Amino acid sequence: MQTGDSLEKVASEVIICTKCHLSETRRKAVPGEGAASAKVVFIGEAPGEQEDVQGRPFVGAAGKLLTELLATINLSRDEVYIANIVKCRPPNNRPPRKDEAAACRPYLERQLALVHSAVVCPMGNSAIHALIETSGSVTALHGIPFEVGPVTYFPMYHPAAALYTFQLRKVMEEDFRKLRGLLDSLTG
Ligand code: URA
Ligand code: SF4
Repeated sequence: MQTGDSLEKVASEVIICTKCHLSETRRKAVPGEGAASAKVVFIGEAPGEQEDVQGRPFVGAAGKLLTELLATINLSRDEVYIANIVKCRPPNNRPPRKDEAAACRPYLERQLALVHSAVVCPMGNSAIHALIETSGSVTALHGIPFEVGPVTYFPMYHPAAALYTFQLRKVMEEDFRKLRGLLDSLTG
């Protein structure tokens, strides 16, 4: 970790960042938000329209569902940390390109080093494949802890998927219950 680094410093750099072309079309960059002492971090793909307007992660429909799922295991948004693989909205919500994700990566790395949570939850295939070296898809990997060195990943469906496929909501609720158990076992 860079000495003297902080989440505030990362955020101050992100909001003026021009390291990739997404800076040309974004309204507001979305650094991420939550507690530096969070025991769990949730990582999405990229800001959507609402996030781009407000400069905050997961504040649209998918974010509402994420907030509800957190509440089912007695977590509030300020107790966790929430961020995305890329910090600026891709035009028309297209998936971020490899060069964009690569340019943005150091910000996420710094955030993960600073928060130092017990568990990191990549949500959806895009975040899973950005963080874990695996060819498995979310269908196979969700709800199962995946240890890589000192980090415990806990892959999940993206809450947006549960907005389109109602049955996934039950699956996500079950995965959140498992996450609660994992957090309790790791953090006491
Ligand atoms: N979807 C994401 O992946 N991230 C957000 O911040 C909002 C929706
Ligand atoms: Fe910078 Fe990341 Fe935004 Fe690209 S997506 S401009 S690298 S903050």
